[in-house]
Amino acid sequence: MAYQIKKAAVIGSGVMGSGIAAHLANIGIPVVLLDIVPRELTKEEEAKGLTLDNKGVRNRIASTAVQKLLKQKPAPLAAKKNLQLITPGNLEDDLDRLKDVDWIIEVIVENLEVKKSLYEKLDAVRKPGTIITSNTSGISINAMAEGRSEDFGKHFLGTHFFNPPRYLKLLEVIPANTTSPEVLEFMTRFGEDRLGKGVVIAKDTPNFIANRIGTYGLLVALREMQSRGYSIGEVDSVTGPLIGRPKSATFRTLDVVGLDTFMHVAKNVYDQTTGEEQKVFEAPAFMTKMVENGWIGAKSGQGFFLKK
Ligand code: NAD
Repeated sequence: MAYQIKKAAVIGSGVMGSGIAAHLANIGIPVVLLDIVPRELTKEEEAKGLTLDNKGVRNRIASTAVQKLLKQKPAPLAAKKNLQLITPGNLEDDLDRLKDVDWIIEVIVENLEVKKSLYEKLDAVRKPGTIITSNTSGISINAMAEGRSEDFGKHFLGTHFFNPPRYLKLLEVIPANTTSPEVLEFMTRFGEDRLGKGVVIAKDTPNFIANRIGTYGLLVALREMQSRGYSIGEVDSVTGPLIGRPKSATFRTLDVVGLDTFMHVAKNVYDQTTGEEQKVFEAPAFMTKMVENGWIGAKSGQGFFLKK
């Protein structure tokens, strides 16, 4: 089968999903961007007498993510006009819109069961031959593919973008045992030639390559800060621009990633290791507290830093 991607869908319009949709729009690929509808309205929406059953409200919720893209810095979009290529929608109402896309990228919360239940829905609606990839930070690609149709299994693999997707060059591509060699070959070439990424093919081991090493490094930095009394500013200084790394260093990076997502990613590898190795992947208790408080980083306005 000769594969081509003329139209894509991104499921999940959070930090990564909106950025991936923008990256695709920038290279001229139309994107359907779907998310779930929150179960509650905001106070402002209630005050206006709006209801969740009102389609206008539902669509606005997903399109807010797109509007936010315009305000992000560095700008995730090359030109405002590219926004027209992104059509937002709600997962529960708009599943049918996935019927004519060539590539569906799942970019929802880092949780195996939640992702699997989404795949069940996608398997029922996608046309045969549609490529489905996950942007998971490290959940097993084989575990996610379990229980799906043969055609889904052949066309399923991990495409792990880095944050922010427009600027970071690395793309980890992780085949499942069921992924067809043609699909792997196609996505690798597409990642390099069209997405402009440097592709590294990784094995399906917990957190793959980049996050196995990256999570380890971040957790060591967090522990050292605590036990040696280093300040957040000191650690960021010696791991950031002063040594030639981009603006966000240890703690700024955690704020950009999202502390909730980071905790899921650390737990994923913690749960799959034992003994001395496992100890390294234990996140400090204060991070759990921060997540409980809603201090999950730039997306909530507060993490280690306040969002300016
Ligand atoms: P996020 O919290 O910013 O966004 C997640 C989105 O998924 C939200 O908009 C939420 O409404 C939606 N969602 C949750 N449950 C859903 C469901 N059942 N169906 C449909 N949508 C649902 O998260 P993120 O940082 O964008 O991460 C998304 C994925 O990308 C995760 O797998 C994460 O591990 C991975 N990832 C994150 C980063 C990062 O730096 N944040 C980097 C690489 C990979």
